[in-house]
Amino acid sequence: MPIGIMSAIPEENRRLVEALEGPEDVVIDGMREYHSGTLFGEPVVLVFSRCGKVAAATTATALISRFDVRSIVFTGVAGSLSSDVRVGDIVVADRLVQHDMDASPLFDAFEIPLLHRSYFDGDRGLTRALIAGGEAFVGDLASHVTPDDLAQFAIGTPRVSRGLVLSGDQFVTDRAYARSLCERLPGALCVEMEGAAVAQVCFEYGRPCGVVRVISDAADETAAFDFTAFVDRVATHFSYGILEHALPIIGGALRAR
Ligand code: SAH
Repeated sequence: MPIGIMSAIPEENRRLVEALEGPEDVVIDGMREYHSGTLFGEPVVLVFSRCGKVAAATTATALISRFDVRSIVFTGVAGSLSSDVRVGDIVVADRLVQHDMDASPLFDAFEIPLLHRSYFDGDRGLTRALIAGGEAFVGDLASHVTPDDLAQFAIGTPRVSRGLVLSGDQFVTDRAYARSLCERLPGALCVEMEGAAVAQVCFEYGRPCGVVRVISDAADETAAFDFTAFVDRVATHFSYGILEHALPIIGGALRAR
């Protein structure tokens, strides 16, 4: 069974698709391209989902029910919600929550109606492998990202953290809103638009889920300024480099189960 690898932005997916080895196959379904092949020695299905929870959840469902992936890894960018997490740092989700889910007073804020939970866990083995992959990639950073690009985004030695990731259908560019999210969901490290939706689908289908994010912005008024340049020149290499190190570990761990 292959490992499903999702990204929400084409640039995050591009280098991975280029690195795919044969026999390759492309299936076009529901406006998505599913690329099957071997990546860093492991059988995978790569797909670019587009942004947001609906796009991510439908794509994750197709990966499971049509391509029978045994686990899903999501790689992408996110806005920081913590002073400990800066642009260029890597965050691996050990828990995820949909920050815009609110069916109160029928259910608690953030609780997924009728699922009796607000939080979804990242799979422990995948999380460990993504942290190891992130750390190995940081040690090898200079061979992936040019000194000029690192300097432009003031990236020194990126830190790799594990913690709570928030997902919702907003690109967060309002510092006061970001602060209110942190007050309501203490311990949040970053905010993005897909991870907790993928984690919910994986929970419902009983498949392990791992989410890794490189911080692209501070989830404030400056968030959109250099976003495209960051994704193009930095994030694409992070996705590739982290998975280059993490995928063989993930493959080994899944085979040992
Ligand atoms: N048109 C843009 C859309 C980007 S949407 C493009 O494709 O280039 C932002 C994406 O980055 C989402 O996939 C989301 O998960 C992530 N992201 C990065 N910073 C974010 C922030 N501050 N708030 C929410 N999502 C963020």
